[in-house]
Order: sequence, then C-alpha cells, then structure tokens
Amino acid sequence: MAVPKRRVSHARAAKRRTHYNITLKTPVKCASCGAYKLTHHTCPSCGEK
Ligand SMILES: [Zn+2]
Repeated sequence: MAVPKRRVSHARAAKRRTHYNITLKTPVKCASCGAYKLTHHTCPSCGEK
C-alpha cells in the first residue's frame, strides 16, 4: 500500500477543499409543488422524486 512521503499541511489541505463546495447544495425547484429541493433527492415537502 502506498504511503504519503510527507504530510499535507493544514493550509494546503484547506486550499484543496476550496473547490469542494462548487457542486454541493444546488437548489432546484420541485416539478410538482415548486418548493426548493436538492437534485436527485426526494422533495422534502411533497415526497416527489
Ligand atoms: Zn415537491
């Protein structure tokens, strides 16, 4: 198993994670009730896919 040669600093790890949020939490309106929901998730208000 591969072993990391040197540890990644907190600053470098934080810089890498700045891109994590780009695709997260994209609100989409529900087709049946119009409430905001997450894509590929069931609607929290009406339960529609
Ligand atoms: Zn809905």
